[in-house]
Amino acid sequence: MSKEASFSGKKWVFIGFGSITKATIGLLVRAHTFDLSSVVVIAPQIEQHQPFVELGVSFIDVALTPENLGHVLRDVVQRGDFIVNLSVNVSSADLIRFAHAQGALYLDTCIEPWEGMYNEPTLTTSQRSNYALRDQLLALGDELGPGPTAVVTHGANPGLVSHFVKAALLQLAAKLGVAVPEAEGRLAWGELAMALNVKVIHIAERDTQRSSRIKSDDEFVNTWSVDGFVSEAGQPAELGWGSHEKTWPPFARHHPFGSNNAIYLERPGASVPVKTWTPNGGPCTGLLITHNEAISLPDFLTVKDGSVLLYRPTVHYAYHPCDDALLSVHEYVGRGWKLQDSKRILNDEIAPGGVDALGVLLMGHALNAYWYGSILSIDEARQIAPFNTATSLQVAAGVYSGILWAIENPDRGIVEPEQMDHRRVLEIALPFLGSLEGIQTDWTPLDTINALFHKPEGELCPWQFEHFTAV
Ligand code: NAD
Repeated sequence: MSKEASFSGKKWVFIGFGSITKATIGLLVRAHTFDLSSVVVIAPQIEQHQPFVELGVSFIDVALTPENLGHVLRDVVQRGDFIVNLSVNVSSADLIRFAHAQGALYLDTCIEPWEGMYNEPTLTTSQRSNYALRDQLLALGDELGPGPTAVVTHGANPGLVSHFVKAALLQLAAKLGVAVPEAEGRLAWGELAMALNVKVIHIAERDTQRSSRIKSDDEFVNTWSVDGFVSEAGQPAELGWGSHEKTWPPFARHHPFGSNNAIYLERPGASVPVKTWTPNGGPCTGLLITHNEAISLPDFLTVKDGSVLLYRPTVHYAYHPCDDALLSVHEYVGRGWKLQDSKRILNDEIAPGGVDALGVLLMGHALNAYWYGSILSIDEARQIAPFNTATSLQVAAGVYSGILWAIENPDRGIVEPEQMDHRRVLEIALPFLGSLEGIQTDWTPLDTINALFHKPEGELCPWQFEHFTAV
């Protein structure tokens, strides 16, 4: 009996009915092994739901709040059911607390706070960061102790990209003939990254999907949640801070609590351009948008001897969203961070040909730089599953593989992607990712500077953070 089938008789409770919930239900439809009459969706705005009603999905039209969460969910969620949180503005921590008490499994794709936290004037910049949200969740894990599995931050990124990093490290080790170290019978990932001399890891994404209906004035267009993107774009830029870094960036700060493996800039991510490289188009400029994996990955890969830091890579997201989303960010920032009056999430209207290349770019080792990830076109995505774009399918692949992994490992308490078995997760996600490719490149961030100013590379280390942010 398949694990999906062994879940029969239980309920799937989706919080939120946006682009990613629709995309994930599309994967349940494709699998043919799920009973869709056991899917319940809870969201305040239920639109374009008729095809889902016809599939058997039921809906509860309510906005969850700190006051009503327990009351609403107790009527719906029983022991052994699965809560899939794909909402904005509903606290992950409160949902996990509820799931733990109720004996339900849980998964989200982002550590979401209650509405208002991102702009709360009484909080410091550090307290509004993803570092702080993650720190609170780790403390919650300690408080709750063992219990039903709650997978946190398991979409595409955060989510699958942590598994891509492990796969890319093993591929580099094989290509370079580096022995894979073990400690206490387990693979020592930090020691492996250190042995390979990986200095910088970008989550390097470029989305070239477009609609024939171009962005209007006063409109924010994106290929996934506009609200989600705007929230993270306005949070401080955050990055894991590498042990090879020699200069301290302007506006950079340490957090006064936690592991201290990541730092933040006193600048919203949407206003921090960074140079990066992806297979669709080569070099490009992305935005240093904060993400959970920029904190969890450097934590996972840090190597210390006692309290002495031996190794940590610099890790951050470098996101080139689709062109209309980039224009939308430009307009949004230009008008003083005031959100446009209309929002549009692209789906059926996307023209053929666009591609989302989402991967990890490991830099500084003997092969210079190595990109590993998913290259998925809109045309492939439409053939694979209903209700999907290239972007939503990569995220739904993370959600779906995380759900199945949790069903197979039902009593692990709070789990981040780095604690999961990357081989099993990627095996489940593979059919939805288009081509999963590893590509070597000779690109460095100094290429642009050298081309413009003919500066000799000399002894410059190309992998300093300052070179990714310059010119
Ligand atoms: P969306 O904006 O399309 O949908 C959000 C949904 O949340 C809407 O249905 C909205 O009505 C619902 N919602 C808002 N307030 C609510 C409340 N109080 N109670 C219940 N529901 C509420 O967003 P999306 O594109 O589907 O993204 C969903 C989540 O997934 C977001 O948190 C986003 O940041 C995250 N995400 C993660 C990844 C990843 O790869 N990790 C990628 C894309 C999106």
